[in-house]
Amino acid sequence: MKTPNLVEARKRTKNPVEVLTDNYKLTEELKKLGLNKAYFIKTYGCQMNEHDTENIKAILEDMNFHEVDKMEDADLILLNTCAIRENAHNKVFGMIGRIKHLKETKPHTIAGICGCMAQEEVVVDEILNKYNWLDIVFGTHNIHNLPNILATSLAKKELEIEVLSIEGDVIENIPVKRDSLYKAWINIMYGCDKFCTYCIVPYTRGKQRSRMPEFIIEEAQNLVNEGYQEITLLGQNVNAYGKDLDINYCMENLLEDVAKTGINRIRFVTSHPWDFTDKMIEVIKNNDNIMPYIHLPIQSGSNKILKLMGRRYSRESYLELYNKIKLAIPNVSITTDIIVGFPGETEEDFEETLDIVNSCKFDSAFTFIFSKRFGTPAAKMVDDVSLEIKNKRLQELNELVNNYSNLANQKYLNKIVPVLLEGSSEKGENTLFGYTDTMKMVNVKTDKTNIGKIVNVKITDVKTWSLDGEICN
Ligand code: SAM
Ligand code: SF4
Repeated sequence: MKTPNLVEARKRTKNPVEVLTDNYKLTEELKKLGLNKAYFIKTYGCQMNEHDTENIKAILEDMNFHEVDKMEDADLILLNTCAIRENAHNKVFGMIGRIKHLKETKPHTIAGICGCMAQEEVVVDEILNKYNWLDIVFGTHNIHNLPNILATSLAKKELEIEVLSIEGDVIENIPVKRDSLYKAWINIMYGCDKFCTYCIVPYTRGKQRSRMPEFIIEEAQNLVNEGYQEITLLGQNVNAYGKDLDINYCMENLLEDVAKTGINRIRFVTSHPWDFTDKMIEVIKNNDNIMPYIHLPIQSGSNKILKLMGRRYSRESYLELYNKIKLAIPNVSITTDIIVGFPGETEEDFEETLDIVNSCKFDSAFTFIFSKRFGTPAAKMVDDVSLEIKNKRLQELNELVNNYSNLANQKYLNKIVPVLLEGSSEKGENTLFGYTDTMKMVNVKTDKTNIGKIVNVKITDVKTWSLDGEICN
């Protein structure tokens, strides 16, 4: 049993990162473990978790498990969890309650927790105290070892916990079962060294480790050859890509090289304002297959709060970057993340957040109430904003953000835009949904033969969160 340790998780050394290319191996015995058994996996949180789930699915299918969509039909249930906010925690513990109920009627069911919550010392302590009927717990660093963890738990008939609190390595040969035939995620880096004071990610995902460019480009080229239309490069801080490698190669180089593979669409998330270079803006502007869409979290409009958050930029430098991007790439869509109710946030600080939203007129924003994460510096700050005020601020901010989302969408009325059609829309018969190059969701009346194609669409109606349109030749 290996349990997580907060002190170890926050350590950063200058030790080189190991790149392991043959760490995932299956014996014949492990390959038989899932024969005639079904698995169900539920994923919480960000795209990185979604992509980890694609790896977990492929591993389970290598072991001959097959996927089912209903938890009740599964022999193995896994929750791939998110630790970013309290409500993500609560949802998982609610689900664990349901699984317990199921296990009472179907005792052979194997149940496990993985992902970011599994990396938290407090969560694993709680599991050991209250939920030790679970079968497996594993973290974000050792997904490749899932077959052995599962085999050990089954052999011992007891809870097997294997969570490593390490800086982490880069494992290159984990298989993947992609959810889509048209859009794919590629991890370009793991972990984060920014240590924003509110954020748990540097503790749950380890130190920043960029993948070597040749592995990323090869993965992108294979996707092009398989007919994929869109690639999203993933990392907590994508524009810091390469800073930890000793090869003088950074995000702008990677973007250019991935663009050369000929993939139709390249996206990247998430960009931290601190590492966004002029060269990167130029590369995005000069390559038609790099999409004019940038998610650029601001978090707060108050310099005092930004400093307390440890964000390393000011409202002025954010605005300067924002305007530079807008000027260079006129049709760019910029979205953001904002936290309200951070410790010490006064009415004036909040007004400054509203003010910067009024200046930037973001295409959209994810807005959150500050959530105390155990072990982070902000958890020790005095949480002096009442829940009532936090809710009031969130509501006011959402109204403003929605207003600008609607205005940004209005600009699309009667325009012709390229849309990658992804699948059936909930908006009715013979309607597909897809996204513009600028990441606007569009519902298009057309038949399923167009799924997976990039088509020109004339926008006929505009709503706050989506557009309607028809295909035009
Ligand atoms: N790496 C990205 C960045 O630096 O902007 C974001 C990663 S995080 C998964 C996504 C968003 O969750 C953050 O931008 C932040 O707005 C929000 N978030 C993170 N920790 C939070 C906390 N403790 N309370 C509330 N929101 C939080
Ligand atoms: Fe968290 Fe900050 Fe790293 Fe983003 S940059 S993952 S918010 S610590």
